Amino acid sequence: MAVAELPLVDTLARPLRDLRISVTDRCQFRCTYCMPREVFGRDFVFLPRAQLLTFEELTRLARIFVGLGVRKLRLTGGEPLLRRDLDTLVAMLAGIDDVQDIALTTNGALLAGKAQALAAAGLRRVTVSLDSLDDAVFMALNDAGFPVARVLAAIAAAAEAGLAPVKVNMVVRRGVNEQSILPMAAHFRHSGHVLRFIEYMDVGTTNGWRLDEVVPAAQIISLIDRQWPVEPVGAAYPGEVARRYRYSDGAGEIGVIASVTQPFCRGCTRVRLAADGQLYTCLFAAAGHDLRGPLRAGASDQVLRQQISSIWTQRADRYSEQRTRQTHHTQRVQPKVEMSHIGG
Ligand code: SAM
Repeated sequence: MAVAELPLVDTLARPLRDLRISVTDRCQFRCTYCMPREVFGRDFVFLPRAQLLTFEELTRLARIFVGLGVRKLRLTGGEPLLRRDLDTLVAMLAGIDDVQDIALTTNGALLAGKAQALAAAGLRRVTVSLDSLDDAVFMALNDAGFPVARVLAAIAAAAEAGLAPVKVNMVVRRGVNEQSILPMAAHFRHSGHVLRFIEYMDVGTTNGWRLDEVVPAAQIISLIDRQWPVEPVGAAYPGEVARRYRYSDGAGEIGVIASVTQPFCRGCTRVRLAADGQLYTCLFAAAGHDLRGPLRAGASDQVLRQQISSIWTQRADRYSEQRTRQTHHTQRVQPKVEMSHIGG
C-alpha cells in the first residue's frame, strides 16, 4: 500500500488535515501583541526574497501534504497579501486534486482590491483581523495608523466577491480593547459574518505576555449572553478550533478561540509551513524542521513525503495544555514562537 493511502496519525492518534502556509514574514502593521515595533523596527532583518519558498516550491510541498491527508490549506503570514500575485499561488493550489478548502487570513489592508481576483483563482474563505471599531483603539493596536473603515470596506469587498461568510478575528487584551467586545458584537450581528474572539496568547519574549491580560473566553461569552442570549452550536468538523455559539434571536453566529483557558491540543490536526520552509508541528514549537534544504538539494517527492510523514508520526506536542497548567503556577514561562507561522 502506498504511503499516501495510510491514515497518517501522530503519537496521540491525531490525523494531519490542515496545512497553514506562511507566504511572507513581513507585515505593514505592528500590532502590539504580535509584531511590536520595539522588536520589529527599522533594523529588523526580514527574510530576503531568495529564502522564501517560491510558488512552485509551495505548490509541490502542498501536493505532498495533500497526499498525506491534508484537505484544508490556509494562507497566512506576516501579511499574506504583501506577497505579489498571491492569486497565482491560489490558482496553483486550487489545481491540486483533493484540496477541499483554501482560505486566507489577512489584516484586510490590501484585500478590497484583490478579493475578486482571489475568489476567481479559487480562494473559498477569508478571515479578516479587526480588534476594535474605535479608530483610536485600533490604531493604537496596529501601530500603523490604519483606520477601521478600510478594514470594514475590505470585509464588504470580500463578501461581494463571494468569500462569505467572512470570519472576523478579534484578539482581546484586558485593559486594551475589552471595551470593544460589545460594540463589535453589535456591529456584526445580522451581518452574516462570524465574529471570533481570540484569547490573547503568549508569543514568546516579544510581546511581554501576562496571564492577567487574558480575558477568558467564558467571560466574553457571558458578557455577550447578558446582552443578547447565545446558545452553543456543535463543532462543524472534528478538530475545529473555535467554539461556536448562535444568537438565540437568530442574529447569527460568533466563536471563541480559547487557546489559553481551554487549550485544544487533543484535536489539533494542523501543521505550519513558515515562509522560509521550516515546518512547525505546533504554534509554540521552539524549533522547526527544514524542508527548503532538501527541496533545493533535489530531493524527490518520495523522500520529501517520507520526511514529512516521519515528522508527523513522531509528533507529541500538546504545548498549550502543558503550558496552561504551568502558567497557573508561575508567570515565568517564556516559549519562543516564530511569528511567521502564527496563522488565523
Ligand atoms: N497578517 C494577517 C492577519 O493580520 O490576520 C495574518 C497573520 S496574523 C499573525 C494571524 C492571526 O493571529 C490574526 O488574527 C492575529 O490577530 C492573531 N494573533 C497574532 N498575535 C496574537 C496573539 N498574541 N494572541 C492571539 N492572537 C494573535
